[in-house]
Amino acid sequence: MSAQIIDGKAFAATVREKVAAHVTRIKDENGITPGLAVVLVGEDPASQVYVRSKGKQTIEVGMNSYEHKLDADTSEATLLALIDKLNNDPEVHGILVQLPLPGHLNEDLVINSIDPAKDVDGFHISNVGLLGTGQKSMVPCTPLGCLMMLRGHLGSLSGLDAVVIGRSNIVGKPMAQLLLGDSCTVTIAHSRTKDLPDVVRRADIVVAAVGRAEMVPGDWIKPGATVIDVGINRIDAPEKGEGKTRLVGDVHFDSAAKVAGAITPVPGGVGPMTIACLLANTLTACCRANGLVEPE
Ligand code: NDP
Repeated sequence: MSAQIIDGKAFAATVREKVAAHVTRIKDENGITPGLAVVLVGEDPASQVYVRSKGKQTIEVGMNSYEHKLDADTSEATLLALIDKLNNDPEVHGILVQLPLPGHLNEDLVINSIDPAKDVDGFHISNVGLLGTGQKSMVPCTPLGCLMMLRGHLGSLSGLDAVVIGRSNIVGKPMAQLLLGDSCTVTIAHSRTKDLPDVVRRADIVVAAVGRAEMVPGDWIKPGATVIDVGINRIDAPEKGEGKTRLVGDVHFDSAAKVAGAITPVPGGVGPMTIACLLANTLTACCRANGLVEPE
């Protein structure tokens, strides 16, 4: 293996430390405690794990955590009424509605009912527009975490060729916007892209956000490229025993690590940074709401 491992856990710990220090300062100097409200509708097991983890980490950095768990058959009107209450609650600086929502709820409608200033996921149409036009916005947590790791590892990204595989609203598209904002030459690939291996081979930076286990093999990677693997896929792991599973990314780690200059592992790469960035966004929202100096 030649690639340097980009340690998402270590990056995330640094972000959390900075957030915690800033929270302590505004508590002491301004008497304000940032608060994050997380709304979970239904009992999706993965979502329950994420929400628990978010709540725990929110408290660990000294913020207030408000969890709202609603039944799977909650009506849209009830959910919208809760969001309205949170929008008007001065103790709540960030609101996150855990996705996916049960099928009877209109996700776009729900997300766009969040006050954009409290939209710490950065999915509100206003924040999407602000990001797309290079204005101050709330930036989606997963792409923001990827960008921080890329900057931390490479320094300036200016002029580099970047390929983002995946064009979802929550990862692929905002990732591409952020890379463009850092003056990369950006290609967005997706399921209809012709000759994906050739497209990926041109890239100095590869961000894989597809949701297909180990889809990108090492021989697609340009030697020395930096690879950010967003994918989280659970596959069978008979080597660990009958019925056991393990998590892998969208990149075939062992072959890619022989060619890449640097690569994020799964788990331990993008995942931990996503929650750290959620905390950073909540702090930013709190500072903006109170006219305080924003964290860097
Ligand atoms: P989506 O399913 O919304 O989007 C997947 C994208 O991949 C689509 O744009 C799709 O193209 C593209 N795609 C599918 N098949 C291919 C293919 N064969 N070749 C090229 N492109 C393809 O997924 P998300 O963006 O929500 O998530 C992507 C992955 O990232 C998932 O594994 C998810 O679990 C993970 N994730 C991880 C997070 C973290 O914190 N680490 C946070 C969020 C997501 P098309 O548009 O043409 O259909």
